[in-house]
Amino acid sequence: MTNSEFLKQANLINGDWVQSDAGSSFDVTNPANGDVIGNVPKSGAAETRRAIESAEAAFIEFRQTTANQRAVWLRKMHDVMLDNQDELAKLLTMEQGKPHAEAFGEIGIGAAYLLWFAEEARRVYGEIVPSPWKDKKILVNKYPVGVVAAITPWNFPSSMLARKIGPAIAAGCTSVVKPASQTPYSALAWGVIAEKAGLPAGVINIVTGSASEIGGEITSNPSVKKLTFTGSTAVGKVLIKQSAENVKKVSMELGGNAPFIVFDDADIDRAVTGAIAAKYRNSGQTCVCTNRFFIQSGVYDQFIEKFTKAVTALKVGNGVDDGVQQGPLIDIHAVEKIEELLADAKSSGATLVTGGNRHALGGSFYEPTIVTDVQSEMRIAREEIFGPVSAVIKFQSEPEVISMANDTEYGLACYCYTKDLGRAFRMTEQLQYGLVGINEGIITTPEAPFGGMKESGLGSEGGSNGIDEYLNTQYSCIGGLERS
Ligand code: NAP
Repeated sequence: MTNSEFLKQANLINGDWVQSDAGSSFDVTNPANGDVIGNVPKSGAAETRRAIESAEAAFIEFRQTTANQRAVWLRKMHDVMLDNQDELAKLLTMEQGKPHAEAFGEIGIGAAYLLWFAEEARRVYGEIVPSPWKDKKILVNKYPVGVVAAITPWNFPSSMLARKIGPAIAAGCTSVVKPASQTPYSALAWGVIAEKAGLPAGVINIVTGSASEIGGEITSNPSVKKLTFTGSTAVGKVLIKQSAENVKKVSMELGGNAPFIVFDDADIDRAVTGAIAAKYRNSGQTCVCTNRFFIQSGVYDQFIEKFTKAVTALKVGNGVDDGVQQGPLIDIHAVEKIEELLADAKSSGATLVTGGNRHALGGSFYEPTIVTDVQSEMRIAREEIFGPVSAVIKFQSEPEVISMANDTEYGLACYCYTKDLGRAFRMTEQLQYGLVGINEGIITTPEAPFGGMKESGLGSEGGSNGIDEYLNTQYSCIGGLERS
């Protein structure tokens, strides 16, 4: 794998693969075994500034390209990804830990986002608006915003970039990318994908290194017109504040505290399948992962019994091994956070049903866990768990569960299982979440807008509005059109 042509250990600036100015670097490790995979540049403000200058210079010509040309580049990038899906997935598993099947799926959905935005590029329509004046016309045009900076997390190191690079290219913007330090290789692979597709130098620049220095330069540099960030709410707030200095456009995809609600009238087997997908995918480390299970009293025992059976059957191991369904957590700090939350919950009366220990495999492997008798005020129900731990709360009525589900500053994803159509619509209307799964545990698709309410974010990625985040709208009034 370390011979892969997609494994790059340098910044990409203006089409050149370069080291940091000081020649310093940092190690990247495989979370499944702690092995050092390699090292990437430890860059700071100076390298970031050059990457921004490169993107700014490339923008002059790139914005003049036709939508059709940009769509062709995006389709070529899509093809490069699918032609090398297995190799890119192996790289992803090696640095992130998720099972190969999930990594393979992540590369696939990333490619699907590119295809979606290749199509959207050609549908950036303006408007001719009926004028209130006889002698003036009203035109509305859309233009690329300019240089876009993208900062991404470690949990989806490839597809989170697809959602940013895709619309940026489609709109005619150029980019500077800063990936998470724990998973830089899947992002650097985007540079190779772009090269293979023949994208002009400078359209995508990638810089690895110090988050605060790179982020500081990105947010203070007036040449960056937009910041698109995916990560924690805490860091998102810092970046919003920093971006306020020069009033940058910002898109924020932040943390969540997803409720998963199962009513007495639900199809319980379907709910258990959805619960496994919505909780244990990526070992519980996704922003849309269930954080709180709310199970109605009439089916509580039945659900817990079936769910426990399914959870204990999950195969834990190195993501490269056949049949593994749950890999390691990203690092030992993630394990410690889970231990803290579980200790707090147990000391306040929660009951461990299964799991609750570090896995026998050692390192950052953790047993798939279920804890019941959870109360809404416990830390485990208020903070993002970001691990393979299900926290279960019993409820009695619809109004009660709506109130508990909405009692959080987050508003990203929620799930609800019921066979009652009226209830399904009532729940959809009343749950304050940007993404709602009714009888479905996995709902992400490029065709739909992905984004959170409340402190889970600003703006959305994908869907028919996704490209708007990368466009400026301009109204022009054409006067002097008196009729003779
Ligand atoms: P994080 O700690 O917020 O880091 C995300 C990115 O921000 C990383 O590249 C990180 O760089 C960088 N960063 C950290 N501090 C920064 C600063 N001061 N200035 C500029 N950049 C900075 O989040 P994470 O732990 O990687 O990811 C997990 C979080 O992401 C969870 O909260 C999850 O819910 C959220 N998430 C949300 C979505 C969504 O679509 N809403 C999707 C996926 C994940 P370093 O790695 O170098 O520190």
